[in-house]
Amino acid sequence: MSVLVTGGAGYIGSHMTYGLVDRGEKVVVLDNLTTGNRGLVSEEALLVEGEVADQALVKRLVAEHAVDAVIHFAGSIVVPDSVAEPLAYYGNNTVASRALMEACVEAGVKAFIFSSTATVYAEDARQPLSETEPTIPISPYAKSKLMTEWMLADASRAYDFRHMVLRYFNVAGADPAGRTGQSSPRATHLIKRAAQVVLGRVPHLDIFGTDYPTHDGTGVRDYIHVSDLVAAHLLALDALRAGHASSTFNCGYGRGASVRDVITTVEQVIGRELPVKESPRRAGDPPTLIADPTRIKETLGWTPRHDDLAEIVRSALEWERRFNA
Ligand code: UDP
Repeated sequence: MSVLVTGGAGYIGSHMTYGLVDRGEKVVVLDNLTTGNRGLVSEEALLVEGEVADQALVKRLVAEHAVDAVIHFAGSIVVPDSVAEPLAYYGNNTVASRALMEACVEAGVKAFIFSSTATVYAEDARQPLSETEPTIPISPYAKSKLMTEWMLADASRAYDFRHMVLRYFNVAGADPAGRTGQSSPRATHLIKRAAQVVLGRVPHLDIFGTDYPTHDGTGVRDYIHVSDLVAAHLLALDALRAGHASSTFNCGYGRGASVRDVITTVEQVIGRELPVKESPRRAGDPPTLIADPTRIKETLGWTPRHDDLAEIVRSALEWERRFNA
């Protein structure tokens, strides 16, 4: 029995792969290496370079490695790029996911876990966001994810196939053992950018917007340590294998930190001031995104172990130093 991890050479997928091999699972990683990095993949996993939409390849991998579950991370994730290149995003995220899903159904894979996003929720939804809040995605990226959620729901009703949708809040930090971390050269995420500023690779950190209706005027997010996210996937996998019904879960801690809170934490960790610049709002950024994680805690027994912004920042910094060295 093996787990097929698509996008397993990327940031979250590579952590997932370690999480799986660490508990003795056999793992096949399928990644086209456009943004993924071969060096992040555990040597205990089999890395196959290819497309998730290549149905013949997926079916062969399922048959050869007795794949019983697929965890699907592969996709494009940069929101502004999705506005500029919507059809590329619908192709790479929605259309490719449809092909992967169909190959899974035809090959007899009954368990599918999908990476979705907190940005599927309506802008005026009630915070903290529970899974029952309305979904009105704004960006093509978020729409590409929600469309895939819909396909999964319909496929699970029609076929002998069950899925878990995990809606990620702001994933950050790195493997505590230092084996992998956020390695994209084009990173736009706050904690990654802050780490680059700490190492002097970027002159200052932009604070995008200081006039939001939040406690200090800067954007508030629910930062979740990537290791806790991996743990959520492992629980979702176990539940699917045990016959659990298809479900959707928020992945966040249920508390928000502002951009200034993150900066303060970084400064405490490094013991000096971080060069920052107040800049205009970034287009499309909502003021606040905080999860209500009640459902995943009660249903899957998920218990966060790294719910500490300083720990998240420290692990991100450690990885950044290692990665640059
Ligand atoms: N942000 C910022 N400076 C940066 C990157 C991000 O002020 O260099 C802010 C952004 O406006 C948002 C928060 O940090 O309020 C988190 O942004 P990020 O890009 O990390 O994740 P997102 O919530 O957009 O997925």
